[in-house]
Amino acid sequence: MVTVLPCDVAIVGGGLAGGLIALALAERRPALDVRLIEGGEAIGGNHLWSFYASDVGVGDEWIVAPLIGHRWPAHRVRFPAHERLIDTGYRTIESARLDAVVRATLGAKAMTGCKALAANQHAVVLADGRRIEARGVIDARGAGDLSLLDLGWRKFVGREFELAAPHGADMPTIIDATVAQADGYRFVHTSPFSATRVFIEDVCYSDTRAIDRDDMAARIDAYAADKGWQVKAVLREQAGALPVVQGGDFESYWQSGGHNVAKAGMRAGLFHPTTGDALPDAVRTAALIARQRDYSGAALHDLLYGVARRTWERRRFYRMLARMLFRAAGPEARYKLPERFYRLDPAVVGRFYAGRSTIGDQMRILTGKPPVSIGRALTAILGRT
Ligand SMILES: Cc1cc2nc3c(=O)[nH]c(=O)nc-3n(C[C@H](O)[C@H](O)[C@H](O)COP(=O)(O)OP(=O)(O)OC[C@H]3O[C@@H](n4cnc5c(N)ncnc54)[C@H](O)[C@@H]3O)c2cc1C
Repeated sequence: MVTVLPCDVAIVGGGLAGGLIALALAERRPALDVRLIEGGEAIGGNHLWSFYASDVGVGDEWIVAPLIGHRWPAHRVRFPAHERLIDTGYRTIESARLDAVVRATLGAKAMTGCKALAANQHAVVLADGRRIEARGVIDARGAGDLSLLDLGWRKFVGREFELAAPHGADMPTIIDATVAQADGYRFVHTSPFSATRVFIEDVCYSDTRAIDRDDMAARIDAYAADKGWQVKAVLREQAGALPVVQGGDFESYWQSGGHNVAKAGMRAGLFHPTTGDALPDAVRTAALIARQRDYSGAALHDLLYGVARRTWERRRFYRMLARMLFRAAGPEARYKLPERFYRLDPAVVGRFYAGRSTIGDQMRILTGKPPVSIGRALTAILGRT
């Protein structure tokens, strides 16, 4: 006998996108019976998500407000040719907090340790033989088949340290690109969590996906030592390789995540093509889903397919920038494009990260002589989208 678990909405994949949708529905549609099905032991895995205050629309702040662990009123960037304090707020969310809030909100309906074998518009089959039947299913199991896209990689290793003495940093340095360039455009990110706690991440925009964890961890340790910071303990570590999309076929990518089923998060292609970041889109998607009235599988599919398709089309510009970043300069000179970008008005920078650049912003970003070979920049611009 197959055990059937009924519900209104089944969300498969309790990561960032799935977790936020579940929380948004619990808040705005409390009458709905929602199940969140996560294969791992914790909602959200092992992540520190960072974002700019301007990434989240004013009307959507309620979704992330209970999750934010740290917030700062401004942040810094450093490049060889200039340094800047930008008064746009910066925030972080720890996955442990997402896990705690989702469990407190959904109780046993947050089903961790439950691997889904298959999902369609109305049902999810679990590896333990149980079956979930829902009015509508949303698949948020992480990326689809990324090999269908033309990619570079933004890869990183981040480590959180307890230091022996206060570090003296008052706000995050999102980008310190004054470090030696390696494996493409490289920078170090630091966020101070307390007087003696600091998160340091080594990041590079690389042609390859493989992460040399030991090498990047050693670079982080060297960066801390260079600052005179003596490490007492390593509290946490994370690593990732995010897709930077230079082109590809949206339809194939969407289909690779499952036919006719609604999709959210990376699986829907809802991430920033130039940075690989998915949080701004995940918040917008959760808010949008919470505003719906029809939670049938077909309606959810049509809604999310439409959003993902239009988002892909509107983001041609970001894919072009990604091509410029990877193709218009050799790996050692890639930093010159972001260095120039960071001279722009902070509002233009903010809309870029939020994936909301206006036509005027796009012109401002491209105006002027590129800091790389014009021929290579043109070739990159004219490449496949
Ligand atoms: C370490 C790291 C740090 C990042 N930091 C940032 C950041 O600071 N800002 C930002 O915007 N983006 C960041 N990203 C990029 C992106 O936001 C994250 O990858 C984000 O978690 C993607 O959300 P998602 O819900 O689509 O996928 P995920 O969060 O990966 O969620 C997918 C979930 O589905 C589950 N799953 C998979 N298969 C099954 C199955 N068969 N059955 C049940 N469950 C399944 C997985 O266990 C996982 O929990 C980071 C990525 C990584 C890896």
